Amino acid sequence: MDQESRCCLPVKEQPAESKEEEEDDDDDNDSSCGCNAWDVIVVGAGIAGLAAAERLCSRGFRVLVLEAQQRVGGRIWTQWTDKNTSPIEFGAQWIHGQENNPLFDVCTKLDMIASEESDEADELKGEFRMQSGSLISNTTVDHVLNLLLTIRDECANSTPAQFDACNASSVDAFLRESFSEAIRCQNDHDPGLMWAIFEWFLTFEKIDNACPDLRHLSTRAYTDWKICEPYSLVSFRNGYNSITDWLAHRLPPGFLMLNQMVTRIKLTESGATVCINDKNLTADHVIVTVSLGVLKANLISFDPELPEQHQSLIQALGFGTINKIFIRFERRFWDASSPFSLKLVWTGRVPGLPDWVYDVSSFDAVRGRDDMLMAWVGGHGAVAVESESEKQVGEVCRKVISMFTGIQDVPEAVRVICTKWSSNQFVGGSYSHPTTASASLGIGMSEEHLFSPVVGRSPQSDPSSMPARQPRPLILFAGEHTARHFYSSAHGAFASGNQPRSWT
Ligand SMILES: Cc1cc2nc3c(=O)[nH]c(=O)nc-3n(C[C@H](O)[C@H](O)[C@H](O)COP(=O)(O)OP(=O)(O)OC[C@H]3O[C@@H](n4cnc5c(N)ncnc54)[C@H](O)[C@@H]3O)c2cc1C
Repeated sequence: MDQESRCCLPVKEQPAESKEEEEDDDDDNDSSCGCNAWDVIVVGAGIAGLAAAERLCSRGFRVLVLEAQQRVGGRIWTQWTDKNTSPIEFGAQWIHGQENNPLFDVCTKLDMIASEESDEADELKGEFRMQSGSLISNTTVDHVLNLLLTIRDECANSTPAQFDACNASSVDAFLRESFSEAIRCQNDHDPGLMWAIFEWFLTFEKIDNACPDLRHLSTRAYTDWKICEPYSLVSFRNGYNSITDWLAHRLPPGFLMLNQMVTRIKLTESGATVCINDKNLTADHVIVTVSLGVLKANLISFDPELPEQHQSLIQALGFGTINKIFIRFERRFWDASSPFSLKLVWTGRVPGLPDWVYDVSSFDAVRGRDDMLMAWVGGHGAVAVESESEKQVGEVCRKVISMFTGIQDVPEAVRVICTKWSSNQFVGGSYSHPTTASASLGIGMSEEHLFSPVVGRSPQSDPSSMPARQPRPLILFAGEHTARHFYSSAHGAFASGNQPRSWT
């Protein structure tokens, strides 16, 4: 059973019509009459929930989207911080890749794409510098990164049996062993420096996979994830929220409610009851699109409890945090003729600096902003930095930039913004990854049974009628963590909601 066939809702033949006269959003309602107020309730107005709702509405379903926060988009969050400048992205930054990427297709059709070229801040390009201020030669950087990318490709093409044979089920072990082997007989480059660049690559991988520790990241992270070729980092012209706003505006009035935190989903004879603020709403089906972090935190209780398989999946899969630090300086102090991207290659600890700083991979120029840099922070540091004051973060960043570039007079930061994805209770982190624990249970993100629907029995108006009540999906799942080969991404989340043959 593939993702497209596993969650079918009954087909509706009528196109969507304005249902304003039928809406009664504020009333308590129950399903005692056997007739639910909504065909489908979608929990969460991130890109997955909005895509599902838009798809179902356009097929004639009466769909209600309930969103806990006061905005749509979830982990897509564009901010217009200063007048007359480009926006900044607190969450998703790029569309990754083009072909077989439904998000790229729809955004291209809607003319939302800024450029089809890679973003300036290409993730593995830039100035690799040590804390002494020394620039590492491109020859050494390219040599080490090429070795590591080859190892990563080998990993992506390996089978589980090959991993077992080399006893390296974690990405950390696989990279470490393979890299050690690869540089064993090489005398052209300083081994200490090669290992320092290796450690930088691990920091980058922790961010790329939103994984606090690569010893817990299963090698399936490389084998399960599929790249949409040609691979490039595609930006939005007017911010990532262009697409979520567009989807939200396609819903009929009254079909989307903000500030509505769902606390409980109870299955009933005729469907499900969804509780928000002591109010019950009923529907034939519920689509749960909240993050894996929200599911792990049990923010929503299920009655009856979710099946064992779902629960062990929720526990075993990983959901880590990455954050962004935006720093607007009094003035630009870098050369604008080439894109600024400073990669931090640490060769040792520096007394007085907080631990989170070693989990920062780079400082990059921000598209359309000539006075702003952005740092990516991952690993355990991504969570730790959330409890620092922004002033403190800004001061540490200035100091680090000064150390690595040798620039003594890095100007004052006039504004520092740190995202806080871990502390946001409605997200609880950034995105999901397969762990060694999930792999040891035989679960990869690409598994076909991942987050299958919770089924119930259709109500029988005539008990004597045959055949007996048919199983039907009552709770369905969508969201980034349910996307078989594109988990962790916005296009995976979009595809999980926008399932043309699946929902209808
Ligand atoms: C810092 C960062 C950078 C990223 N960069 C990229 C990138 O460059 N490219 C890329 O493709 N992806 C990126 N991602 C990942 C991408 O943003 C997500 O995969 C995607 O947006 C997830 O969408 P979703 O709809 O599955 O979940 P969400 O966006 O989390 O939507 C779920 C919604 O459910 C709501 N909710 C939660 N609990 C409840 C409740 N109890 N009741 C009602 N509503 C509830 C939430 O408020 C949220 O709006 C990034 C993510 C982060 C955090």
